Parts: sequence; structure tokens; C-alpha cells
Amino acid sequence: MFEEEQHNTAHLVKRPPVVTVMGHVDHGKTTLLDKLRHSHVTEHEAGGITQEIGAYQVHYNDNLITFLDTPGHAAFTEMRARGANITDITVLVVAADDGVMPQTVEAIHHAQAAKTPIIVAVNKIDKPGANPDRVTEELAKYNLIPEDWGGDTIFVKISAKFGKNLHELLDMILLQSEMMELTANPDQNAAGSVVEARLDQGRGSVATVLVQQGTLHVGDPIVVGNTFGRVRTMTNENGRRIKAATPATPVEITGLNEVPEAGDRFVVFDDEKTARVAGEERAKRAQDKERQRTSHVTLDNLFATMKKGEMKTLPIIIKADVQG
Ligand code: GDP
Repeated sequence: MFEEEQHNTAHLVKRPPVVTVMGHVDHGKTTLLDKLRHSHVTEHEAGGITQEIGAYQVHYNDNLITFLDTPGHAAFTEMRARGANITDITVLVVAADDGVMPQTVEAIHHAQAAKTPIIVAVNKIDKPGANPDRVTEELAKYNLIPEDWGGDTIFVKISAKFGKNLHELLDMILLQSEMMELTANPDQNAAGSVVEARLDQGRGSVATVLVQQGTLHVGDPIVVGNTFGRVRTMTNENGRRIKAATPATPVEITGLNEVPEAGDRFVVFDDEKTARVAGEERAKRAQDKERQRTSHVTLDNLFATMKKGEMKTLPIIIKADVQG
């Protein structure tokens, strides 16, 4: 969190939900994300080249839904560990022929810890061995109970591979998001989180960010994690250059002086000088923290070693380490 982040609630408008798809390996997360993406591209975007930017938006019945295209619990856990709770809704994919597996349980725990509602997508119902009732029974243990069994969790039976019931799934995501009354203020300096980032040979630091408050503009002075810069270019998931991005929009930005990390927060400043000062200040604080952390590790290790009687005196090098 940045202390500079504004929490101006003066002008709140409805925003799209941000959805993460989770589930056990091979249960169909990638297939689902691909299918949703390619069957819901609006006409004016057709012809645009699909970019892998780690997130995309689906246009459905005059609504937008933002999907984080990063199946893989590691990315999700990493982001949460860094304090970025950017998901509103988790879609839990469970293969109907395989049932609840270890990573299904892990996903449930992540989603419950992050307090995001879960929509269960019982996948692969086209398969001869599919047994959706067994999945429902198994999930009841984790307090995921469908309405017709007396609970309040939304279940949708789908076939990602054959595109069956995907509209129903999108309807349920929108229903869930209506209940959550998700809003944001587009009229303030933008703030949000990094979804992924990398170093590109030609373009330098390239980061996919999710705008969570305000509107991000090309030219904005920005601090991202411990790095800073000015938004040089902004590209959407169809490879189109855009000038502004409103809440829940994922965009790829260039113009940062270094590569930030997934889960880092970003915030826009009124002028570049303040952004630089804030960025450098944060980088310094991070360095100090890291130095402290490593010196603690060193001391802990040394004390442990001494306790075990493997070392009798503290070597002078500790001093050098602490001061770093
Ligand atoms: P992930 O590891 O969860 O991302 O799973 P994938 O999307 O890679 O899917 C694993 C395998 O299951 C692939 O061979 C898919 O073609 C297959 N698959 C995914 N969804 C379905 C489905 O609805 N029906 C059937 N029959 N196969 C599916």
C-alpha cells in the first residue's frame, strides 16, 4: 500500500469484476480461459492480434469481465503474499471425471483466505466417466454447497472443450458481481497492481498492470513497487495502443526505469519529480529492509550454530554484515 493512494469515494461507478480461474492441474483452466477469450471478442477488436499480457477482458451482454490469465497457484499466492488482493471472484474448475484433488483443496483454501466468493465450474461433463454429483458431494466437505442442496454456492456444469454452458458461467459471474456491488472512482489518479512484468530487449521494462482505482493515462508519472517512471506506452490485450485505462482494465505499460514484481502496487503522482523522489525513497527503504532481513538470518544461523556447540565465538564478519 502507498500512503499516497487516495480513497476518494466521491464518485463511485460500477466496475467490471476481476476473476481468477483456479483448480487442479489438467482439470481444464487453460482450455476454459482460451475458450472464453476467443469466443467473446467484440467486432471492432476482431483482427487485433491477441497478446499474452496475463489478463484480458471479455465483453458479454453489454458487460465486461476481467480475467486474470495466470492459472497457477504460485502467481496467486505470490500476489497475496505481497498484499495484492486483486481478485473479486474465484472460478474453481473441477473435472467431473476426476473430482476433488489436492490442488482443488489448495485453491479453495486460497480463495477462502482471500475472502473471495467461489463459483464452482464442474468441467468435462461431456466425458463418459463424468460424475458431477460426486464432485458436489466432495465439495460439501469444504462448505461449498449448491442452492438445491441447501447451500449458497453457485455451481455450473460446463464443458470447456466443447464450449458448453459457458454463457451460463458468464451469467453467474455477472450475477455474483452484481451482488458484490463492485465500484471504483475513475476520476482520480490511478492506483492498482502489477499482474506480471519482464524485461524486453527492445522496449525495456514491460509490466502488465491492473488499474483498480482512477484512470491511468499515457504520460502519467508513476511509482510501481520500488521503481518509477512515466507511462510511455499503454497496450491492451489485443495489441492496440490505448491512451486511457479505467478501473478493472488490464494494460501493458512501458516507461519504468526497472522491472517491478508481480503483486507490486502502483500509484500515479501529479508530477514526475515527486514520483521520482517517492520511488527512490521506496527503493531505499526496500534495500534497508532486505539488509536487515539478511542480517537477521545471518545472526539467527550463527546463534543456532553456536547453540549446537559448533562455534564458540562470534566472528567479526557479523559486524560487516549488519552494516552491510
Ligand atoms: P489445466 O492444466 O487446468 O490448464 O488443464 P487444460 O486446460 O490444459 O486441460 C487439460 C486437458 O483436458 C487437455 O487435454 C484438454 O483438452 C482437456 N479438457 C479440458 N476441458 C475439457 C472438457 O470440457 N472436456 C474434455 N473432454 N476435455 C477437456
